Amino acid sequence: MTEDVLSNPSNTARFKRVLLKVSGEALMGSGAYGIDTETTERIAGEIKHAVEAGFEICLVIGGGNIFRGLSAAARGMERASADYMGMLATVMNALAMQTALERVGVESRVQSAIPMTTVCEPYIRRRAMRHMERGRVVIFAAGTGNPFFTTDTAAALRAAEMGCDALFKGTQVDGVYDDDPRKNPNAKRFESLDYLDVLARDLKVMDASAVTLMRDNQIPIVVFNIHDQGGLARVLNGQGVCTIVGKPNASA
Ligand code: UDP
Repeated sequence: MTEDVLSNPSNTARFKRVLLKVSGEALMGSGAYGIDTETTERIAGEIKHAVEAGFEICLVIGGGNIFRGLSAAARGMERASADYMGMLATVMNALAMQTALERVGVESRVQSAIPMTTVCEPYIRRRAMRHMERGRVVIFAAGTGNPFFTTDTAAALRAAEMGCDALFKGTQVDGVYDDDPRKNPNAKRFESLDYLDVLARDLKVMDASAVTLMRDNQIPIVVFNIHDQGGLARVLNGQGVCTIVGKPNASA
């Protein structure tokens, strides 16, 4: 399937199972910190549309709205401890998203890479697969479980492990631009890009390690606007505005 999609980069309609990466900041709404319930529920509504349309969705949510290891390390905290705190922040976001999904009537499970069995399931790949086959949304929390990584890399890792057809990166804009479209009105959006373009031009799609992992596994990255109402379902149906990263034989 993936080859088909990649040979026609504008075609996102054939993806069946996707991993959606949402940054922690996307949950803040107009606030400067933390979780905005209304925004979280709106994103849950987007996921509900996709699930009802028959797509299998799993999620990785960042923690940047609560705690970022690197920033704390810059202020003098030991990096590994700071990163563990960052991973715990992603668990809070995952639980908030689970509650929001429940409220809109979507069944979900949270699986944490750092086991905390009184709060959620530990990450067990095969169990996550079963959940998805049964139509449940699986939210992967605590990143990779390792410090010195990010939730972008966790998203790429889980996308590969779960056999996802694509990694969807929900951002504040509707794709990848050659400059910041919020500052430069002449910035141009790319329809499609090669993994190597992203790396060579340092295009800030995702971390380099996440892009490399997707390139190695030939999984396309689809960048779209998570705040565009109905946007996720539209892109999944091949009609939305987005940028697709990934070309055939990129690793050849
Ligand atoms: N983090 C980590 N290992 C991981 C994933 C995340 O140590 O595998 C920590 C890291 O400190 C990071 C924080 O969790 O700053 C929050 O994740 P991230 O910055 O990726 O969140 P986002 O920017 O997507 O909101």
